[in-house]
Amino acid sequence: MAFKVTCLPSLSLLFFLFFFSRTMGNIGNPTKLSSIESIKQLKGCCDKGSKAQGLHQLKLYLARFGYLNYQHTPEHTNAEDDKFDDELEAALKSYQKYYRLNATGTLDEATVSQMIVPRCGVPDKEIHHHGSKSLPTVSFYRFFPNNPRWPPSKTQLTYAFASDYPNNHVPPVVRAFSQWSTAISYFTFSRVNDFRNADLKVSFKRGNHGDGYDFDGAGGVLAHAFAPTDGRVDYDADEKWSDGPGAVPNAMDFETVAVHEIGHLLGLGHSDDPNASMFPTVSFGVQKGLNSDDIQGIKVLYGLN
Ligand SMILES: [Zn+2]
Ligand SMILES: [Zn+2]
Repeated sequence: MAFKVTCLPSLSLLFFLFFFSRTMGNIGNPTKLSSIESIKQLKGCCDKGSKAQGLHQLKLYLARFGYLNYQHTPEHTNAEDDKFDDELEAALKSYQKYYRLNATGTLDEATVSQMIVPRCGVPDKEIHHHGSKSLPTVSFYRFFPNNPRWPPSKTQLTYAFASDYPNNHVPPVVRAFSQWSTAISYFTFSRVNDFRNADLKVSFKRGNHGDGYDFDGAGGVLAHAFAPTDGRVDYDADEKWSDGPGAVPNAMDFETVAVHEIGHLLGLGHSDDPNASMFPTVSFGVQKGLNSDDIQGIKVLYGLN
């Protein structure tokens, strides 16, 4: 969540909040409603114009991650919510292009299978309105608009764990910071005890945890982080994490997810390079480290060679 903010850090945060209110604000409590299970059951479902129970959930999912400007509130039970309309087809095609699938605009197996892979809570795209009369359209702009970043005076960043953060999950985060500082010598990361005054604040949370971006139990959303210079990163306490080093079958590799979330803390949005750490999804039992796309992204953002 994953900005020239040397003198305007608060503005950067406001922009971020505004962005989220545009993409997520009108869908209320997205995590509660966006059920992976109901999306699973939609495999092979429906032609455009038809209705099917669960399409409402699919629309919420696509809206949450930036592919659809969902017009209804979650409490809205109009049958139209379960209708496979033109906007849904366009959103599916946009999603499929992002994940390098055939842009069929249908709920084929490959698409549904991709949707149920665990992922980061940060949206992949930003929704823009192009005039009040036109249909909502999805743009391909990168997530963190205006390139918020840490100011040149902030290259020696401090991080701290929340007081209730489990000790066993500390080492993978420390290793993830080390991956970044090794790859990008521009930044250093030092652990401190003063959570309140640390630049980067690492927490373990569950469900509704007060920042408007609820977690959703095991699977689905794994973690999220805020754009510079906010510094907050939250991990979903309900996941089956493995602390490594090295991946463990059927568990989510903590270090892999931590490397991704630190990318957001430094100002990277999601990459559509499946080999990049900043790709939005990661499967259980898989370990990934930084690749050239991640490193190039930071170098361009900070003007490094
Ligand atoms: Zn992410
Ligand atoms: Zn959070």
